[in-house]
Amino acid sequence: MIREAFRVLCVDLGTGKGRIELLDGRNLVAGGSGLAALLDGRYGKNDLPWDAAEQPLIFAIGPLTGYFPLMSKTVCAFRSAYHHQYTESHAGGRLAHALRFADLDALVITGRAGRLSCLVVGDRHLEVKDVGFMRSMDADAAGKLLRRMFAKGSGHRSILRIGPAGEIGSAMACINVDSYRHFGRMGGGAVMGVKNLKGIVVQGDGDFAGPAGSAYARLFREVYRQVTATDMMRKYYSLGTAGNLQGLNDLQSLPWCNLQRTSDPAIAGMTGQAFADATLLRNGACSGCPVGCIHIGYIREKITGDNRYSYHQVAYDYEPIFAAGTMLGVTDPFAVLRILETMEKVGIDAMSGGVALAWATEATQRGLISREQTVVPLRFGDAAAYQQAAEFLGRGINDFYRLLGMGTLRAAAAYGGGEFACVLGQEMAGYATGELFFAAQTLGFRHSHLDTGAYSREQKNAGRDVGQAVDFLIADEPGRVILTSMVACLFARSVYTDTRLAECLAAVGLDTLAGSVPEVAEHVRRLRWQTRIATGFDPDALTIPKRFYDVRTWKGPVSREYLDALKQEYGRRILRLAADRSGSDAPLGKEGN
Ligand code: SF4
Repeated sequence: MIREAFRVLCVDLGTGKGRIELLDGRNLVAGGSGLAALLDGRYGKNDLPWDAAEQPLIFAIGPLTGYFPLMSKTVCAFRSAYHHQYTESHAGGRLAHALRFADLDALVITGRAGRLSCLVVGDRHLEVKDVGFMRSMDADAAGKLLRRMFAKGSGHRSILRIGPAGEIGSAMACINVDSYRHFGRMGGGAVMGVKNLKGIVVQGDGDFAGPAGSAYARLFREVYRQVTATDMMRKYYSLGTAGNLQGLNDLQSLPWCNLQRTSDPAIAGMTGQAFADATLLRNGACSGCPVGCIHIGYIREKITGDNRYSYHQVAYDYEPIFAAGTMLGVTDPFAVLRILETMEKVGIDAMSGGVALAWATEATQRGLISREQTVVPLRFGDAAAYQQAAEFLGRGINDFYRLLGMGTLRAAAAYGGGEFACVLGQEMAGYATGELFFAAQTLGFRHSHLDTGAYSREQKNAGRDVGQAVDFLIADEPGRVILTSMVACLFARSVYTDTRLAECLAAVGLDTLAGSVPEVAEHVRRLRWQTRIATGFDPDALTIPKRFYDVRTWKGPVSREYLDALKQEYGRRILRLAADRSGSDAPLGKEGN
C-alpha cells in the first residue's frame, strides 16, 4: 500500500547534499500539481527573482504512478524564465516510474552547482558529478553520453538534460526527457541552466509492492481493458494527434504562416496520414502506458564525402507539426522533421520556437528586421533556412536571437511587430478555433491548450454567450487539475473519471483521498492559482495581439467585443476563486497540512 506521507528528496546543489523529508498533505493535495504547489509554498521565495539560486526546481508524481496504466507523467514546477511567475510543465517518458522505483514522491532541487554538473539520485544514493566537458553539447549527444556514464538501473532509469538553449537561459529552453519527451514550455531548461545543471539521472533502483488481494488486480485489468480493447484511446495510437491537422484545417482553425490564414489546400501533403505514409517508423510509449501514442518518423542525411546516408529518428505530434510546419509554411513532412530534430538538439520547445520564427519571418517581410538580425534570410516555406534559424535561436548566436529566445513579445518590443506576434500568454498552441480558446490560453494556468477544453468546445459550438462560455471554463478546470495531481496522461481523461479515480485510490489504500476527489480537485485548483498570483499573475496585464482579432474561422470573423468580454470575465472569475479562502485552510478528510 502507498504511504500517506509524501517522501521528498531535497537536494542543495550548493553543498552537493540532500535530505529526505516526510511531509503530510496527501489528503489535501493528492500529488503532482497539488504536491508541486505545496512544495513551492515551502521552498519558493516570492521576494527573489526566478533565477535566484534559492528557487526550487520541483519534480512531482502522483499517488497512482506505477499502479495503474497511463499514470505516466511527471509535473515539473518552477519560476519561469518567460514571465518570472510560478508555473508547471508536464512530461512523460520514464521519469515518473523511475521516481516511483526510487521511492520518491518528489525531487526538489535548490542552489547552484559550482561547475556544470549532473545530479544522480536513486533509492539510497546521491551524487553531483562535474560534467564541465559537456558545455554547449547538444541534448542528443548529452543524452547518449549520460546513458553510458550512468548505466546502472537502466530498466527504470530516466535521463533529463538540457541543450545549449538551457545553458544560455533561453525562456524557450526545454528539458529533454529520455527519448522524445520534454518539459517543453515556459523555460524549465533555463532553470536547470542557471543552476549549472546539465543533466539529472534518476535511477529507479528500489522496489515497491503492489496492493495485496484480488480487488486491485481486478480493477487494474478493467482499466487496462478500457485503454487497450475499446475505442477510447484508438485515435492516439493510430494516426496520433497528427490526425487533427486535416480536421482543424477543414474548420479554418489551423494556423498557417504566422496565422495569416487558418486553412490552406497544401494540407493535402501534411495530414496525419501523409506523415504516417511517408515517414512513420514505429510507435513509442511512456513507461506504464500500453497505448503508445508517440509517433516516431525518420529522416536520412547524406554523409559528407560519401554516397551513403545516416538515418535519424524524430518524434512528431500535432503541435510540433503545426509549429515547425504550417506556421512556417513548410509543407514537406521530412522537412518538418529536420527542423524538429534541430530544435530537439539545441533544446528549445518546438512550439515556442516555431511560432517565434514565424513572427521573425513576417517581421522580415515588413522590413522591421533584416539579415543583420536573422543571419539567414527567412521566407515562409524555406525549410533549410528555418533549420539554420532554429540552431541560431537555440544557441543565441547574436543579440536578436537571444532576445527572441526570451519571448516573441520581447523581440517585438525592440523591433516592432507586436500586433502580429502570435502570443497568448506564451507562443500560441496550434488551435485558432476562436475567441474562447484565445481567451482561455491567454489566462490559462500553464498557457496551454490543455488547461481547459476551450479548443474542443469551440470546434462544435458557435454560441457567443459570455456567461455560459466562462462557466464552462471554470467547471472544466478541476477535472483536469485532479488528473494532473495524479499525474495521469490527459489523453486518458475519458477513462479516469472522478468515480474511477476514487476506485483506484481506494484500491491502493488511500481511502480518505478516494472519498474526497472533487473537494481535493477544487482545493488544488485554488492553491495553484493562489501560488501563481502570489508570484505576479495579473489577468489585466496580459494582452491579446491584434492578429488574433483578424482571424476568420468556420464561425466567421472573430468578434472583438466577444473576445474582450470573455477575457475580462474569465480573469475576474480566476481572481475570485483564488480569493475564496473558505476551503483553503480547512482539512479535507482527517488530515491536516
Ligand atoms: S498516451 Fe502517449 S503521452 Fe500519454 S502516456 Fe501513453 S505514450 Fe505517453
